[in-house]
Parts: sequence; C-alpha cells; structure tokens
Amino acid sequence: MQYYFVDKKNDRFVLQDSDIHHILHVLRAKTGEKVVFNNEGSQYLVSLKISQKSVDYEILSKLEDKRELNIETTLIVGLPRLEKFEWIIQKATELGVTKIVPYISKRSIIKLDDKRQTSKVERWQSIAKEAAEQSRRCSIPKIENVIYQKDLKKYLSKTNLLAYEESKEYTLLDKITKAEESITLLVGPEGGFDKSEVDYYVNLGFDSVSLGNRILRCETAAIFLASLVSVYHN
Ligand code: SAH
Repeated sequence: MQYYFVDKKNDRFVLQDSDIHHILHVLRAKTGEKVVFNNEGSQYLVSLKISQKSVDYEILSKLEDKRELNIETTLIVGLPRLEKFEWIIQKATELGVTKIVPYISKRSIIKLDDKRQTSKVERWQSIAKEAAEQSRRCSIPKIENVIYQKDLKKYLSKTNLLAYEESKEYTLLDKITKAEESITLLVGPEGGFDKSEVDYYVNLGFDSVSLGNRILRCETAAIFLASLVSVYHN
C-alpha cells in the first residue's frame, strides 16, 4: 500500500505537490483507493477521492503498527563519494536510524561549499523521505548539514561507537545489546580515519570497536552497524 507523509492545516491533512502528482500520475489512483497517511508519527488508513486535478480523502481508521526502533540512533558517516552516501541514506533509513550526519573528516575526498551543500542536503532529505515511505516508517530520519570534527560532540549519545579497523576490541555485540535510549555510530570514509582522529574520538567518549577481521567498505560498515542495532532494538 502506498504511504505518504502529510502535513496538517486547520484539521485537514495536506499533501505535498509532489505526492499529489504521484497519486494522480504514477499511482493513477481512482476514488476509493486506499493509502496510508502519516502525520507526525500517527498513521491513518484513508480512502482517496480523486477528481481531475485534486485529491481529497476520507479517514477509515488509525493504524497502530510499530515501525520505529526502541533506541534513538544517530549515524555519523565520514563523507564518502556522494553516490555511496546516498546509498547509505536509503539503506540506513530502511533499517530505522533516526538521524544521519555527513561528516567531513581528514580523508574525505568530497568538499562542499555552502551553496552546493544546501542543495545536497535537500536531495539527501528527499531520499530519506522516499525510503521512509517505502519502509512505512512513522518518521523521516533527519539529515543534518555537513559537520566537521569540532561539531561531533553535539551528536554524542548514551552509547557511542567508533568503527575502527585497527581496533582489537571485539565487543561490538555486547555494546549494542546493552545500549539504552540512544546510540551514535561513527564510520569513516573510503580512506578511513587516521590515528590522531581516532584519539580525538576516543577522548570525546567514543568506544572504538572492530567489525570483524576483514576490512569493510565504508558503506558496508555503516549498514552492518545499523543492521545490528535494528536486530537488537527492533
Ligand atoms: N583505511 C582503511 C579502510 C577504511 S574502511 C584501509 O583502506 O585499509 C572505511 C571505514 O569503515 C573505516 O573508517 C571504519 O570506520 C569502517 N571499517 C571497515 N572495516 C572495519 C572493521 N573491520 N572494523 C571496524 N571498522 C571498520
């Protein structure tokens, strides 16, 4: 069933223009077609009423499905090539993360000026919205503006894990299963983190953990971590 995030105005739900377009021209919905509207975390089964250029609806019932993780999950990614980052946004959204933070670390090859950044963040947010609809999430993960090392402390949670391939700490599962309320996951870009960056993160309060004895690509590492969280904090 199709799923749309909607706003509310004067007690009525309001669809975004792109979603009206989707209903009329992609879904080609007829009157009576059922879809789900999500407004601020509440989900409603609605029956659509279609006229030539407009979409109206009638609420049939409120849905009580549980879709969100039991733990607030922040994924910080040392910015890799942009198509990889977009893939990470899509998959991490499906897995339930709450917030995704693009981080320019020393070895990030991407540099974004302010103007380019604004348009990228908009695009990233719309990828998250589509993925959240696809996986019937109750909320859309927030994609933050690009951050630098000095901003990291704003994103600390109760549990903070740093994926570091040189780490001999095989305590990942234990740390994830014991985490409560909030968790931050930090993954490096293609070139990884250098030792001075790792020292800085550990000083901030990150626990450095191994993801196993093989070196994973950054996107695999990010999704592997988000998957574990979603298994244990479903
Ligand atoms: N610089 C490294 C690999 C970087 S992999 C090299 O080329 O040898 C990119 C990111 O994925 C790393 O910064 C780390 O956060 C994560 N990662 C990959 N494999 C990992 C592992 N076995 N354990 C922990 N983290 C890993």
